[in-house]
Amino acid sequence: MRKPLITGNWKMNKTITESISLIKELVDFVKGYQETEIVICPPYTSLWVTKELIQDTNILLGAQNMYFQDEGAYTGEISASMLQNIGCDYVIVGHSERREYFHESSQEVAWKVRQALSFGIKPIICVGEKLEERESGSAREVVKEEIEAIFEVLKSQDAPGVVFAYEPIWAIGTGKSATSKDANDMIQYIRNLLKEKYSEKIAEQIRILYGGSVKPENIKELMAESDIDGALVGGASLKALAFSQLVKFRE
Ligand code: PEP
Repeated sequence: MRKPLITGNWKMNKTITESISLIKELVDFVKGYQETEIVICPPYTSLWVTKELIQDTNILLGAQNMYFQDEGAYTGEISASMLQNIGCDYVIVGHSERREYFHESSQEVAWKVRQALSFGIKPIICVGEKLEERESGSAREVVKEEIEAIFEVLKSQDAPGVVFAYEPIWAIGTGKSATSKDANDMIQYIRNLLKEKYSEKIAEQIRILYGGSVKPENIKELMAESDIDGALVGGASLKALAFSQLVKFRE
């Protein structure tokens, strides 16, 4: 059984002061709730204070990105050992905003996956197609290429510990979610690729999330699908009540 995972990606939002109030509210709202794994990914500047505030709670910590080198002259970058030292459990890699605005290639995303795993941090690997790719019928091909780059670095013994997030780019921050059926179809396709590459047993252990305008109004329908194991959430993770409703989608 795959435990549902709800991950909040705060993106470039929240000062340290604002982070403290959001975390305190959230800790209260989800206190003791064990049916969903909860991960929040604040900006780098708030990681440390977040770690302190979620100590001994049911909330885990994730970062939004990292670099694939160990250390050195890479101004502005953050390494896996820095995230490990803060106590990050997860790191998002290959978010479409990183791929698009910062020109991250699938090769770089794969290196980040390898680096995160070697420091014991679980990568949440984002994949997804643009609107024109969906409309031209090449969505699966695009997702397959992104996943195949990961296959180059992901060994079968590490595979059960990674998380994939299918995020159609046209659904991110637009208010326009994919239908639950379309999301599930692509996630099943991803799981089949994982079966072919590793094994049925491994593919059944890997969690695959959906991301793209997930909100309290559509979470139940998405989570009712056979293969959607949780959500990667942007906008709705910035409000403690809305995020806690996503976490408690079963209620
Ligand atoms: C995201 O940041 O990955 C995301 C899915 O954002 P939103 O929920 O705002 O669409």
